[in-house]
Amino acid sequence: MPELPDLAVVVDAFHAALAGRPVIGVEVPGPLSVRGTPTELTALVLQRLTMVRRRGKFVTFQLDRDRVVVNAMLTGRFQLAVPATKRPQSTAVVLGFGPRDRPPRDAARWTRGAAWLPADAEPVEVRYRDPSQMGKVYVLPAGVDRPVPGLDADQGPDADDPALSLETWRERIRRHPGELKALLRNQAFVAGIGNAYSDEILHAARLSPFRRRASLAPEEVDALYAAARATLAHASGVLRERVPPTFETQVRDFLAVHLREGEPCPRCGTRISQVSSRGESTSFCRGCQR
Ligand SMILES: [Zn+2]
Repeated sequence: MPELPDLAVVVDAFHAALAGRPVIGVEVPGPLSVRGTPTELTALVLQRLTMVRRRGKFVTFQLDRDRVVVNAMLTGRFQLAVPATKRPQSTAVVLGFGPRDRPPRDAARWTRGAAWLPADAEPVEVRYRDPSQMGKVYVLPAGVDRPVPGLDADQGPDADDPALSLETWRERIRRHPGELKALLRNQAFVAGIGNAYSDEILHAARLSPFRRRASLAPEEVDALYAAARATLAHASGVLRERVPPTFETQVRDFLAVHLREGEPCPRCGTRISQVSSRGESTSFCRGCQR
């Protein structure tokens, strides 16, 4: 499942590659993934893309008038490609973009001059593929009130939001008494963290995923905040180097504990434990997480 660091890289890259380009075509090979009418999809054509941004695990393509919001869920992935190349299996939506005069001035610094950036004079496609069809692509025309479950009102602040201070973290966490793994994944607490990065953050904080928030000492609450910030920032840095040009590949091989059952803990050497429930795995170290 794409989480905050994965999507942060995609959003930076797609904004740099696409902002200023007009939509020149929309294709929907997988209509089950789309919330929107054929007329609404056709009306996207000739609108210029102004911004690609992220909120929690949602990616928004903002056009002149309308917007397209994607919740990739478990298996949704994005690809940036030249139109002539073969489309991957299970491609659900293709947004075709025409040439532009110049790249946006507000492109993320790390994207500037990157080899994977398509030439401004050439067309480019964003392809969204989703083998499980669990994810959704919402077409949101201006003036149409179409609900996007889980977006905005239901979300806490982004886990990497500079405005999420330690004070705010301490205050918000009081409302959530349950187990720490579920707490970190609760998008109403903070947005953007899923199964993989909750494991990584708890390992960095030396806290067991099964500890209850109500049992935490004040310094442990603070350690969890520091671990969340550091873990997400580190991952985003690694992925900026590793992910382009194949944005659809989810790079996770640098993680410390997630899905590393039986391997030595990088901090204390104890073999990493894994517990599965409802098809999802929690990985942690019994040696150094309390
Ligand atoms: Zn350990």
